[in-house]
Amino acid sequence: MVDYSELAVPGIRQLAPYQPGKPISELKREYGLSEVVKLASNENPLGPSPKAIAAIPAELDDLARYPDGNGFALKKKLSEKYSITPDQITLGNGSNDVLEFAARTFAQTNDEIIFSQHAFAVYPLVTQAIGARAVVVPANNWGHDLDAMLAAITDRTRVIFIANPNNPTGTWLSETEISDFLGKLPERVIVVLDEAYFEYATSPAMGANGYPDGMPLLNKHNNLIVSRTFSKAYGLAGLRVGYGVSSAAITNLLNRVRQPFNVNSLALAAACAALDDQSHIDRSVDLNVTGMGMLRAAFDEMKLGYIPSVGNFICIDLGIDATHAYHELLKKGVIVRPVANYEMPNHLRVTIGTRQENETFLKALAEVLG
Ligand SMILES: *Cc1c(COP(=O)(O)O)cnc(C)c1O
Repeated sequence: MVDYSELAVPGIRQLAPYQPGKPISELKREYGLSEVVKLASNENPLGPSPKAIAAIPAELDDLARYPDGNGFALKKKLSEKYSITPDQITLGNGSNDVLEFAARTFAQTNDEIIFSQHAFAVYPLVTQAIGARAVVVPANNWGHDLDAMLAAITDRTRVIFIANPNNPTGTWLSETEISDFLGKLPERVIVVLDEAYFEYATSPAMGANGYPDGMPLLNKHNNLIVSRTFSKAYGLAGLRVGYGVSSAAITNLLNRVRQPFNVNSLALAAACAALDDQSHIDRSVDLNVTGMGMLRAAFDEMKLGYIPSVGNFICIDLGIDATHAYHELLKKGVIVRPVANYEMPNHLRVTIGTRQENETFLKALAEVLG
């Protein structure tokens, strides 16, 4: 009998797959519930722009055709919006795809990839999958410690992942912190600045004064890759589309590992149309600001600790192992995200929902915590 796990490459043999938030349909099935509130995957509670949805039917007649493998129209729109050139853009099947391109393009077995403790779970996954060594730098007050990350660089360092803001902690780095860091970094080390929550974090109402925009930094730093996504504020998580922006030289390399048709035709059309609806983003950001305020006020009243966040999610600290509370919330039809796999066993991450979803969550939470 062949033990196929013995045949798998070492990185894959020990890989623990990404744990997604529990799907609504699964919870309904398991507990026989009809009403479920999912605040577990940082999705936009308003959904996508109506313009994005309206762009999809026109594509249906052409489903037999391969999508535009170069994503001409979407790259054109993105380049106009962000004053970059199409040859700086790498489209991804979600921005996770781009994170993986970066790791696969620049690192191999025994190379080192640096990221922070409590950082986004995909960084350790892509690192391990290619057999590279993860260098996990202890967090500073839940956030990235950039000085310690700089100090961790060795001759073998190939890539550094930085999430701004970070998921699940919601912590963020200022313009000055990021610029100083990039200025001190050896040019041979690639930095991936993951801005999945950019649209939420730049909201003036968040008070995130000095939250940096990674794009202009590309003019000064050829070793920078900025990644963004349509999954969060744009509300298109189900279609899987994101992108990386970098120097043309790096983009050329990233596109060599990209599968030729990694973004499907419906996603390309919807993403293009979504970029035309800034008012939907504004509405989504406003809803988030209001909801964040509402949750924080409730947590304060409940004397519940939390990590201040500039994303569309927030981590609460239950002071004890959060597994029990997570399961009790499930029984009440509320899905949040346990984050024990981020070395945060006492925290639960909750996505900001609609007013009604937030109220349902807060009521259930108060009952669970007694
Ligand atoms: C959600 C998220 C992503 C993006 O995921 P995609 O759906 O693949 O675009 C990337 N980075 C972080 C930190 C995230 O939270």
